[in-house]
Formats: sequence, C-alpha cells, structure tokens
Amino acid sequence: MGHACAPRIGDGLSSLDTPSMIVDLDLMEANIKKLMSKLLPMGVHIRPHLKTTKSGILAQKLVAAGAKGGCVAKLSEAEAIIAASGFDDLLITCEIIGPVKVRRLVELYRKHRSIRTVVDSEVGASAINDALAGSGIEEPIKVLIDLDVGLHRTGVAPGESALALARHVAGLKYLKMIGVQGYEGHLQHVHDRALRERECRASMKILTETAEAFRQAGHDIQVVTTGGTGTAEFCATVPGVTEVQPGSFIFMDTDYRNAVGTFYSNSLTILATVLSKQGPRAVTIDTGLKSLTTDSGLAECKDARYQYGVLGDEHGSLTWEHDGPGLEVGDRVEMIPSHIDPTINLFDVYYAYRRGVIEECWPVDSRGKVQ
Ligand code: PLP
Ligand code: MN
Repeated sequence: MGHACAPRIGDGLSSLDTPSMIVDLDLMEANIKKLMSKLLPMGVHIRPHLKTTKSGILAQKLVAAGAKGGCVAKLSEAEAIIAASGFDDLLITCEIIGPVKVRRLVELYRKHRSIRTVVDSEVGASAINDALAGSGIEEPIKVLIDLDVGLHRTGVAPGESALALARHVAGLKYLKMIGVQGYEGHLQHVHDRALRERECRASMKILTETAEAFRQAGHDIQVVTTGGTGTAEFCATVPGVTEVQPGSFIFMDTDYRNAVGTFYSNSLTILATVLSKQGPRAVTIDTGLKSLTTDSGLAECKDARYQYGVLGDEHGSLTWEHDGPGLEVGDRVEMIPSHIDPTINLFDVYYAYRRGVIEECWPVDSRGKVQ
C-alpha cells in the first residue's frame, strides 16, 4: 500500500514484498463460523476482543457473522477504530484513570454514546462522573464493575469491596452501572483441558454470585461479561453469563494451539524471504524481533521441517535436519506467530487472500494505540 510496487487486489501472493502479514480467508472465515455456531446456540452474546485484530473492518465482519459489538483494551484503540471505520459499539475493558484519559473518554462519549467502560475503584468512577458533570452531556455513561475473578490484574475484590463499589457507582449521577466484567486471563493457556474448565467454573462462580449479590442489593445488572479463546466455551454454558469476549480465535497462534488444540486453525502467517545461505542446512530470513514477537516462545515455520531461531531485530534463522533440497536464497516461507496480538501490532496492514490470490487489504487501525 502506498508505494509504486504496491500489491493489488487480484494479484498473487508473490506480488507482496516481505515481511508481510497475510491471512488465509478460508481459514479465518471457518474460525469465525466455528465460534459462532458453537457459542451462539448457548444463548450468550459474543463481543469479540479487538485487541487482537485492531481493525474496524474485521469488527464489522464479526458483527455480520453474529457478534454483538466489540471490546477494546484501551481508549486510544477505541478512538482509532472509530475514526477508521465508524464502528463504535465498544466496551473498553481497561480502567480509564488519570485526568487526561478521562477527558478523552468524555470527548469520545460526546460523539459516541454506545461506548461503555469498566471501573474498579471509587476514585476512578468518581473522576469519570465529575468530568461528565461538567461536560454538558446529560446521558450517563454505561459502566461495568470490573471484578477480580482470580487473575489479580485489575478488578475489585469480590464480596464486601465489590458491593461497596457498586453502591458508590449507583450513587453517581453520570454513571449507569449495567453489569459486571470478570476476566479469567490466567486460565486461557492452561493446557490441561479438564483443569482449565474446573478453574474457569470456579471463576465463573465468583462472577455470577457477585452479579446476583448486586441484584439482591437492588442494582439492575444486565451484562455479565467474561471469557477468552481458551475459556469462552465453558463460560458460555454458565447460567448468568450473558456475554463472552474471545479475541485470538480468529487467527490463533502457536501458544494457543499448544494450549487449546486445533479446533481453530492458524489463519494468519508472516510471509518471509530467504536472504542468505549460511551452510548446507541453514538460511537466514528477513523476520526478527521487529516482525515476530517472542514473549510466548519462538514463531514456527509453517513447513515444520524448518526450525526458527532469532538472529536479531531484522533477521531469523531456519535450520533443518533432512538431506536433499532445502531452502535457497529468494525462497519464501510462512511463519506462524507465537503470540498473535503483539505480533499484529508490528504491522500496518493485513493482506487477505483466498487460494493464493489477494482479495482484501485491511489497515491495522489501532496499531500502536496503547494509551
Ligand atoms: N477479555 C479481556 C479483558 C482480555 O484482556 C483479553 C485478552 O487479553 C480477552 C478478553 C481476549 O482473550 P483472547 O485473545 O485470549 O481470546
Ligand atoms: Mn494475547
């Protein structure tokens, strides 16, 4: 995109320069269909987490397939996705803290009343309320109480603390408490499926019992939202859970594949080129730390005969054991990311193809939007 050699719709993948982020549309669409047909009959809403795709176009495709809105982690992700696509049915799943961010929230909410967010402290809730009070906006913003269901990242502690926060929020004129969020992020990658389900059900018990306690205290709780790719299928069966937030399922990565299996397939790869031959069974390719993240282990070559290693910011190695023809300078390979969300954050654009032909290009709208 943008330069003289830019690929065009209808071109083959060979028209792409590398490294490029490419999406197999058949596989991606199958992942979406699998998620929808598994979870929608369970009676939950699906609000996919857009921290994975960072794309308004993909948010719209997910809604066309049955999703109800989307989640974003950060306020700036919401701003970018709305600016790019107009898609504004968004839940911001991180706390909005600090006067600058609160002001930005108010300005976003002024134009987009469908924005909702979470609070886990009285001081955080009051700051949003006070900013709205001076804004001229009469309509209260929808908020969810963020509950700690075991991740110990954000969220008010269950029990008396949660009830006290709910009471506080209910007393704020410009906040409308509509529900509870409890994200069990520590369980998403638990390899033992039975253990993952058991622990997830324990977290869901905390979440749904808290929602019930809020109702008993007179609060109108409509939304109980939770879950990711590793747990959504369990969360969706729990009475009282109304909404799940999986994100990574659409593309997957090797870390998720190793943990939860191959029900969803790896639909996104990084296309790379062999730059240099470094021995009879070793080449150097043009992906390194700037194009494949390593926090969840190393990426894998789609052709499993080749083992990947990092050779710096811009370079990686592929080595192999087999005799006979291997990789040569100019060859192309596809690399499967180990952690999809931060890897996508390294690219400006997706090239989406079907059977080798580029059908669509999607900008990564909220790339780098970490505020
Ligand atoms: N919900 C919240 C609050 C998250 O932070 C995340 C991911 O970190 C998700 C949902 C989606 O999880 P996943 O990408 O593992 O499906
Ligand atoms: Mn992630």
